[in-house]
Amino acid sequence: MKRTKTLQGRRLYIPQMSYEGALCMAAAFRSIGIEAYPSPDSDAHSDDLARKYLSGDECLPEAITLGSFLKVTEMPDYDPARTAFLLPTSNGPCRFGHYLPLARKIFADRGEDEVLILSPTSSNGYQDIGKGARELVRTGWRAVIVSDIMRKMLLKTRPYEKEKGLSDRIFQASLNRVCEALALPAISHKKRMGEILRALTAARDAFRTVEMDRRKPKLLIGIVGEIFCRLNDYSNSYLIRLIEKYGGEAWMSDVSEWVWYTNDEEEKRLIRQGKRFSGSMMIAKIRQKVMHADEAAMLALFREDFFDYPEPKHITQVLDLSRPYLPREGAHGEMVISVGKAIWYQRKGADGVIDISPFTCMNGIVCESVYPRVSEDLGQFPLRVLYFDGLQSNFESDVEIFMELARNYRQQRTDKTGLTRS
Ligand code: SF4
Repeated sequence: MKRTKTLQGRRLYIPQMSYEGALCMAAAFRSIGIEAYPSPDSDAHSDDLARKYLSGDECLPEAITLGSFLKVTEMPDYDPARTAFLLPTSNGPCRFGHYLPLARKIFADRGEDEVLILSPTSSNGYQDIGKGARELVRTGWRAVIVSDIMRKMLLKTRPYEKEKGLSDRIFQASLNRVCEALALPAISHKKRMGEILRALTAARDAFRTVEMDRRKPKLLIGIVGEIFCRLNDYSNSYLIRLIEKYGGEAWMSDVSEWVWYTNDEEEKRLIRQGKRFSGSMMIAKIRQKVMHADEAAMLALFREDFFDYPEPKHITQVLDLSRPYLPREGAHGEMVISVGKAIWYQRKGADGVIDISPFTCMNGIVCESVYPRVSEDLGQFPLRVLYFDGLQSNFESDVEIFMELARNYRQQRTDKTGLTRS
């Protein structure tokens, strides 16, 4: 008889979409008693491991995720029966839905069927997670917000630091501290929030001690695009550091933005199904209210820090900006958000926007087709898709040229309006 695989007694690896996100999500899983860690860092070796199983049709995030999972199999204490990998899935045209069956096939082909590929879904109340799933959903959301906040603090501080490396060190130490709060077992949501807020306050204060050199203004570059590729440093060839090297500061779209988009899509779907006044709609509304409250409590600590980096109050503001180019009724997913967010960044003072896209991903391809019009409508605003396939060459000169365009745009805008951001 086939044994049902459960998480109990296994070590769970969380894919590194972003390092900080995986670290925080692993901490959230630990809060319900699951031994969880981020999956190993990606590198050329993990690429080689993945390549043995790939046909070449897979998108870059899929290859990188699988390579990082396969790295686990080389660990000295690796035991398939005690190992699990987190791999959410979805339906639809995007290749994300392909990850799960391929990962299962790979481990089956290796004779390691005992590995558990965990793909929890809201449709069955996340029952695959087992006891504590409901608690985890809320702590997991808090983990998303915490990692978004930590990343924002790092990106706004590091380009100006006088002591090189200090912001990165504070970032790591702060992450460790907030993860301790996220991972505390068997405490109420209220108490956990108190601990998280304490850890976030310490993180904020530590970042505020960094001595900054603001004599030379930095170019502010908005970052949009495919969620994995923009957040995973390895897959975008450490683009953010390159932007910083050429005198820029990156303003990256948050992960929470995608979550709000999916919530909004859920509401639209319920309305289409005639369930505007249904129990499902009521549950969705209550859930969003709780999510908003958690988010607001954490962001309130950073009001001064993020004053110059305003985010939309509601995702529909982004979707409305996108509407003249890609209306949400006809286009779905990241492409709609990327176009709307690029316009948002321009309105909030960015000097240019880079859209990070895996090579052959339709999001980047569709965005690239509308960006020339967007750019023209915004007075030749520098707006560029950069494609990544894991084999970049001559990439640095592309960034250098882009930064020059952004510099010119800033100059023209300053000449016209007399306004400067920094
Ligand atoms: S959005 Fe594009 S890159 Fe991302 S998973 Fe889907 S197909 Fe792959």
